[in-house]
Amino acid sequence: RTLAELDARVTKCRACPRLVDWRESVAKGKRASFAGEPYWGRPVASLGDPEAWLGIIGLAPAAHGGNRTGRMFTGDRSGDWIHAALYRAGMNSQPDSKVAGDGLVMTGARTIAPVHCAPPDNKPTPDERHACAGWLRRELQLIPTLEILIALGGIAWQATLSGVRAMGWDVPRPQPRFGHGAEAVLTRADGVPVRLVGSYHPSQQNTFTGRLTTEMLDAVFARAKEIHQV
Ligand code: SF4
Repeated sequence: RTLAELDARVTKCRACPRLVDWRESVAKGKRASFAGEPYWGRPVASLGDPEAWLGIIGLAPAAHGGNRTGRMFTGDRSGDWIHAALYRAGMNSQPDSKVAGDGLVMTGARTIAPVHCAPPDNKPTPDERHACAGWLRRELQLIPTLEILIALGGIAWQATLSGVRAMGWDVPRPQPRFGHGAEAVLTRADGVPVRLVGSYHPSQQNTFTGRLTTEMLDAVFARAKEIHQV
């Protein structure tokens, strides 16, 4: 199976009844500012370079962001932060992405979510996270070029560690703890190391309060590039 086939298949998934209901009802209700726009209202596939060396693992698409545009981490403020940082790091062709088909090209990077459907209050349940974990594992298996994973927030960090452990990767013990700038070396089943780097999630709660600044996010991407170039 190819990555493109996986991306196509995930958009048809209906395994989580609460999320199916939420993603579709948000798409029907629409926010007033997007009333004239079509909403995707389905699972959102990961976005970016199929031969990425860098995977950016977030949480889930936003109700009026990816659930509207159909593209991972676009169309909302958190997504704007991620794509602006990728642009500053030289991996995105443009600093933002407001609508599908706007010409965005991502080089070397791919935005990935451990939960592919927008959840109410941005909070998937443990069962929903568990249900979607198989998609993450299959995706990571289909991108052997990945060298570095940036986990945006503790849930992404945990989902990544659980996912790769289930794939037979070696995870250090005791389990590495999440933190902004935290790093861990994970070892694929074939012995190839993949570095995990932690970053605070660019949620409005973090960016409005200054817990995460553009400089801090840029430093995480700079560190990833440094590891890549070694
Ligand atoms: Fe399927 Fe994942 Fe969406 Fe659940 S969250 S319906 S497992 S794509």
